[in-house]
Amino acid sequence: MDGIRGTDAGQAGLNMDNHWMPFTSNRDFKQDPKLFARAEGIHFYDPQGRAIIDGSSGLFTTPAGHGRREIAEAVYKQLMELDYTPSFTRSHAKSFELAERIAKLTPPGMNRIFFVNSGSEAVDTAMKIALAYHRAKGEGQRTLFVSRERAYHGVNFGGVALSGMVRNRQTFGFGLPAAVHMRHTWLPENKFVKGQAETGAELAEDLARMVALYGAETIAACVVEPIAGSTGVLVPPKGYLERLRQICDQHGILLVFDEVICGFGRTGRAYAAQSFGVVPDIMTMAKAITNGAQPMGAVAVKQEIHDTIVNSAAEEAVEFFHGYTWSAHPAACAASLATLDIYENEKLFERAQQMSAYFLDTLFSLSDLPVVTDIRGYGMLGGVDFAPMGSPGKRGNLIQKQLYDAGVHVKATGDTIIVAPPFVIQGEEIDRMAEIVRSVLAKH
Ligand code: PMP
Repeated sequence: MDGIRGTDAGQAGLNMDNHWMPFTSNRDFKQDPKLFARAEGIHFYDPQGRAIIDGSSGLFTTPAGHGRREIAEAVYKQLMELDYTPSFTRSHAKSFELAERIAKLTPPGMNRIFFVNSGSEAVDTAMKIALAYHRAKGEGQRTLFVSRERAYHGVNFGGVALSGMVRNRQTFGFGLPAAVHMRHTWLPENKFVKGQAETGAELAEDLARMVALYGAETIAACVVEPIAGSTGVLVPPKGYLERLRQICDQHGILLVFDEVICGFGRTGRAYAAQSFGVVPDIMTMAKAITNGAQPMGAVAVKQEIHDTIVNSAAEEAVEFFHGYTWSAHPAACAASLATLDIYENEKLFERAQQMSAYFLDTLFSLSDLPVVTDIRGYGMLGGVDFAPMGSPGKRGNLIQKQLYDAGVHVKATGDTIIVAPPFVIQGEEIDRMAEIVRSVLAKH
């Protein structure tokens, strides 16, 4: 332990022997603990008061910037008024209000909103809805899911089965068996292409190959992130999502967009579905739904899917045997309503759209650095790849640490950093962030 960073935990008098941190090298963390003590606007502050630019909007959670008083006050007020409602069989007015608000943001027809507490829960819920739908239609043999390599769909068993991130799967075996994977959409020929590449739509034919191999009658849904986020921002080539939609339509396969990162403006529209002009049957969302202030997620479903499930269970006391103790928690609903007010009043999705060109131009200006091997981006989401140094992920990890020391927090995945600033960031703050990133990368 040395210097300011190493004293974070020591100064706070923390015993670090009990909290097992997720997706973290707990061993390294203990040697060099990094704590945040406060956050405001686009900055985190460490316990010594040093400002660190939040270059990843938390974990893509916080587009409106940190410390939003409106959200905190709404949560406080809600908890004092009604802190909890038993979510099975009872609800509260804000859950209906919020579902209506979200249904207005989603593409037309995606009217039914099921609330959960995280992205992982949203994905597993979406999978169960797909299975229940096919069963309700008398097609219960449709149990196979088609997803993609280099996909991240959360960490619950359904999402892990869909996921194409090697370590997330290997640690636990295959998880649930009923998922097969199409190729991811990163192509060497599309290096340094800003936005959607012109070539690569034919990768969607992988879905047709799965249909040929396994039979359409066995496939429940095709699940993709419109932009694969956590594995480095893999933007779909032009025509790719459209082609997936066509193949799904031809074969009665549901198309699920995992919008946990893209949802709520990251691509410049409310959802990537709108940015790319392709409407899925089911959509997951989480993260920015409360600007990160409360755990929450949701699944938006086409009316017909909802009606099919509900009508088939007309004689049953319950139509869909699924839900969580904290589904539509009053505090989360209050936080989300306050968040949607901010997005609307401050026109933040439009702002993301407007800032995108400047953000991406600035990010792509790093392409002259020798260590940078590819840059991709869309909306307010960008990925920068580095030449590996020794074992895979070593350089990415080192760069992430060096960036933190230099005053920028970003997410790293393998030898890639993901940059996704809050939409409220100013042009000169983007410049400052890029300067810091350049100064770190130039030493590699
Ligand atoms: N799906 C996608 C596309 C994600 O990016 C994530 C989180 N990064 C998840 C699901 C899982 O969300 P959570 O961590 O809230 O469970």
